[in-house]
Amino acid sequence: MPESGAREEVRFRGIGVSPGIATAEAHIVGAGFEEPTARRIREDEVDGEMRRLEEALKITRAQILEMQKQIAAAVGSKDASIFDAHLLVLEDHVVLDEVVRDLKSKKRSVEWVFFSVLRRYIDSLRKIDDPYLRERVIDVEDVMRRVIRNLRGELKSEAQARAEQNPHVLLAHDLTPSDTATIDRECVLGFATEVGGTTSHTAIMARSLNIPAVVGLHGICGILKTGDELLLDGYNGLLVVNPGPETISSYERLKAEKGVIEEELLELKDTKSATKDGREITLSGNIEFVHEAAQVAKSGAEGVGLYRTEFFYMRGDKLPTEDEQAESYTKVALQMKPHGVIFRTLDIGGDKVCKEAAEEGEEEPNPFLGWRGIRVSLQERALFKDQLRAILRASGVGKVGLMYPLVSSVEEVRKANGILEECKQELLEEGVAIDENLEVGAMIEVPSAAMTAEVIASEVDFFSVGTNDLVQYTIAVDRVNERVAELYQPAHPAVIRLMKRVVDAAREHGIWAGICGEMAGDIVFTPLLLGLGFGELSVAMGQLPRVKRAVQSLESATCERLAEEVLDLGEALKIYERCVEVALQHYPELLK
Ligand code: PEP
Ligand code: MG
Repeated sequence: MPESGAREEVRFRGIGVSPGIATAEAHIVGAGFEEPTARRIREDEVDGEMRRLEEALKITRAQILEMQKQIAAAVGSKDASIFDAHLLVLEDHVVLDEVVRDLKSKKRSVEWVFFSVLRRYIDSLRKIDDPYLRERVIDVEDVMRRVIRNLRGELKSEAQARAEQNPHVLLAHDLTPSDTATIDRECVLGFATEVGGTTSHTAIMARSLNIPAVVGLHGICGILKTGDELLLDGYNGLLVVNPGPETISSYERLKAEKGVIEEELLELKDTKSATKDGREITLSGNIEFVHEAAQVAKSGAEGVGLYRTEFFYMRGDKLPTEDEQAESYTKVALQMKPHGVIFRTLDIGGDKVCKEAAEEGEEEPNPFLGWRGIRVSLQERALFKDQLRAILRASGVGKVGLMYPLVSSVEEVRKANGILEECKQELLEEGVAIDENLEVGAMIEVPSAAMTAEVIASEVDFFSVGTNDLVQYTIAVDRVNERVAELYQPAHPAVIRLMKRVVDAAREHGIWAGICGEMAGDIVFTPLLLGLGFGELSVAMGQLPRVKRAVQSLESATCERLAEEVLDLGEALKIYERCVEVALQHYPELLK
């Protein structure tokens, strides 16, 4: 809702999920595709509708040729040749003749006639058992939508085209992880969405890209337009439209202050991550893409504690082969030396939908409780083996570990380990160098896994607690739904007690326990997490220096006392307040 301000300046309040300040113009994206309705037309309108279609086909053809030219210049003509198939769809006379026939006989708007003819064509292609023809479904659907958008006049406005090339703040109802995986990092200075929560993958991506993001800005896409001047404040969850001179100068001051702290923190890069009394904490980084490994190496992190490999899958149209995965995993393993990298096996599902699955139209009725994480890998054995073999191949050149996501029982871990053993044997017989003793871990993200941690502990070398999911599954609160964002409380006593159980089980079995959920990067919780006994914190790159400074400011005994005390508290707010008090006593400057 608009807050207040000078005449032309309007403020909207949402939830700040990634810190920083961005000033740029708005670029609104992702209006969903709505199926056309069967509007009736008169006999004398038929010719006019035909002419509209011819014009839309001409425009579509020009757009596709332009895209083809741009892609050929950027990545080569081989990749650009995929658009040849799109052009062929536009010239398919069988389809176009049918459209003309239906238009005359059914007398409905050309959008609907074109849509229904193409739908029939797509349905018959889907039934043919030929991978080449099935792939064409995607092309035909893409062209169909483009033609209909052109018929509706949803052409890119000049403002939109300009905004896409200039630095901008991306505004959308929601951004899927695959949208964020393909954004142009040079141009996108921030994200603002109508929906989403602190641990939605859009928010995680923003933190990992180190750009400000605000979610929960209801109705914003209908109020603003592309080209509007914006100031996005990710610290306080504010979106300011047409910021006036006073607002701009106060934000410039804030930016300068924050800049000084950031610079000071950068100096910690080569220092040890240890408490005042010398307890060493492994501080590692979370990444989604290969190129981020270089940043981890530079930031002073001790390796990668969570590599979310599914983002690699969500980028393209087809699943990567074993060789393609091995190549990128090897690159990361080499870059991280002398430290290591922990590959989290595929965690498709939940709010991370693979393009290929989405295009197959297989919707999950309850995605976070459905076909996700290790469940997918165990059912799609060939896919899982490709990934395990690729990770094992990377283990031959660097220090590599792997962990399974969304484990809910020890049986899943045993099955996964059985397939891993099979892959090891195959590679050894093929004479490929691998690390036979690479560390294997289970992510603890589901209460059933936390409650049986002592059983799972005998099958693995480490635990990594995924608090983003552990919180959502423990409290039954959807992590991406801003309407229940207030209930999403990492300090909930049930979450803290489950975490304690996990650390205790790890200790009893002589394995290590870390955290790779977003809670690990929140410095309010650093004293509590150390006090509970976690030895590793894996955080987004932008948070790493702050967490290091927090660790260096603490004493183990203070942290242990805090953990003991809050384990007796029964309310999230009380636990949170105690954590804030301890954090403020030790590093007030970081919490400003
Ligand atoms: C988590 O759940 O805490 C986690 C690290 O995994 P993701 O956020 O990718 O689900
Ligand atoms: Mg998770």
